[in-house]
Amino acid sequence: MTNSGLTPLTLPVSPEGWGDWLGQRCGVQLARARALVAVIKDTHPAAADTLLADWNEVSIAMGNAMSAASLISQVHPQEELRSQAETAEQEGHKLSTDLALDRDLFEIFVAADPTGLDEGAARVLHLALRDFRRAGVDQDEPTRARLRELSDRELVVDQEFGKNTRDDVRSISVTPDQLAGLPQDYIEAHPVDADGRVTITTEYPDTIPFMTFALDAEARRALVVEFNNRAWPVNDAVLQELLGLRAEHARILGFDSWADFDAEVKMIGRGAAIGEFIDQITAASDESGRRDLAVLLERLQADRPGASVVDRADSAFYKEVVRRERFDVDAQQVRRYFEFAKVRQGLLDVTGRLFGLSYARVEEAGSWHEDVAVYDVQLEGTPLGRIYLDLHPREGKYKHAAQFDLVAGIRDRQLPEGVLVCNFGRGLMEHSDVVTLFHEFGHLVHHLLAGCHPWARFSGVATEWDFVEAPSQLLEEWAWDASVLRSFATDDAGEAIPEELVAKMRAGEDFGKGCFVRTQMFYAALSYRLHKEPVADITAFVREIQAAYDLFAQVEGTHFHASFGHLGGYSSAYYTYMWSLVIAKDLFSAFDREDLFAPETARRYRDTILAAGGNKDAAELVTDFLGRPYNIEAFSTWLQEALVC
Ligand SMILES: [Zn+2]
Repeated sequence: MTNSGLTPLTLPVSPEGWGDWLGQRCGVQLARARALVAVIKDTHPAAADTLLADWNEVSIAMGNAMSAASLISQVHPQEELRSQAETAEQEGHKLSTDLALDRDLFEIFVAADPTGLDEGAARVLHLALRDFRRAGVDQDEPTRARLRELSDRELVVDQEFGKNTRDDVRSISVTPDQLAGLPQDYIEAHPVDADGRVTITTEYPDTIPFMTFALDAEARRALVVEFNNRAWPVNDAVLQELLGLRAEHARILGFDSWADFDAEVKMIGRGAAIGEFIDQITAASDESGRRDLAVLLERLQADRPGASVVDRADSAFYKEVVRRERFDVDAQQVRRYFEFAKVRQGLLDVTGRLFGLSYARVEEAGSWHEDVAVYDVQLEGTPLGRIYLDLHPREGKYKHAAQFDLVAGIRDRQLPEGVLVCNFGRGLMEHSDVVTLFHEFGHLVHHLLAGCHPWARFSGVATEWDFVEAPSQLLEEWAWDASVLRSFATDDAGEAIPEELVAKMRAGEDFGKGCFVRTQMFYAALSYRLHKEPVADITAFVREIQAAYDLFAQVEGTHFHASFGHLGGYSSAYYTYMWSLVIAKDLFSAFDREDLFAPETARRYRDTILAAGGNKDAAELVTDFLGRPYNIEAFSTWLQEALVC
């Protein structure tokens, strides 16, 4: 596989150039897609391979426009550019819906004779027909019109849900003493204002350390209330509309619920199987979760006699206290070893060695903000693609951590370009941030390595959605390995993080694993159940689901769902994190724990799973790599390891 001879996009070097660039990029590509569709219709009947080649061009053009629009809508520092990008995204989405509902186009595909097509082309044809049917192209005209309306509106409402969360940055005002317990660099980064107060915002780099370290329980409670009330109440109505649109959409297409419709194209296959999976994992983690919870509660009661529950205002803080006291892991000691610049370089070195990649910083490359670090990536000496690391928070930027595409790689056509969008502080990082960075980078290398297919349909992270987290969760394992960490995690004096400390961190991480799994099952159940049946009072429903699955209690007066961004993109499929984790643990069982860089396994993994992109069903890729179908054994062992600690 090689992308020799291809060059990356030339991006504007200043924020001002982006309006024209984006208009051009989206305008040209969407126009090209429209023209190509006209060609397909004019030249009909054509041989199936000609049809598929033309259709591939349409997919490339659509992908180019949509990737640029979607990225810029989330990262550009100027509000008007983000809005322009959202409009472009809506236009692209509308065209994509029009095409999916174009009966004439569908008939051309139905008439295509698959005889003689190679395996890749046959798969593209099969998937195209499936996508057409799922769009409802075979419905009557009024129904197609309604589906089009629903689809357009779903995107707008989903964007609104995200925008409301992004724009609603809240804060609390505390006295300087209320910073007690926080690391020195955090205190320095939060100076006292003229009124003698300190402002703590709901941005992640402010909130997460505060919830983990601040000794003042009332201040933690005040912050968690603000954090879990972002975009509330405004997003209640937005969410209800989104759920209603999706339910109608699924019903029209003959499904009982959106969850059933969505699951059809996932590894899991059926909506009901999501509920079964959640119950299976909930049961498997019950014993370990309750044992950890009892430890947390006992420790909380030592400070607050009579406390009967551990809630969201105390959970992160007491988990940290127990880790420090029981496992002797002091996160402040740990973070001394994770200075941002060293971590970023360490990540590149580790993934470079693992996958045979090299990274060259491109200082002069254009980007949307000066914080963005751009690298050209080579695979064993030949060009592979370009990456953009946009890792610090700023106003109006996407608030979570995610990988975005800029360009999907196509063999001999265009170089894959991918972007990491995260919100880390600029100084010392928590180890959990380091794990997040490795995780997101797992998506990024997947995007790049699968960027040499001739078919757009297979390019990048083009696999079933409930498999996409597996490669990134697998890469997290490298952020927990002592010898890997020691290669880049050094303190100011240049001392590498001690092996014993990493061992303790791992033991500390094992503590609370059952609780973590149960919280994940709360999120998964919420995402599934909201898309399975109508819910009149979402706040009351969240409380009920949380009580059934999460081991931590809700803080009174909070509305977590209003900023639960994954309800947008993942809809009913939040379970995918745990589903992928089951598979990631199985994939990891093939690696030698004593030598995570053993080249044979790493290269085989790279070539059979990552580079394959979407050219086979995920279950088949996993079987190719493991030499057998995946199973839950390694995951169960992992949960039992938690029991030991
Ligand atoms: Zn991920």
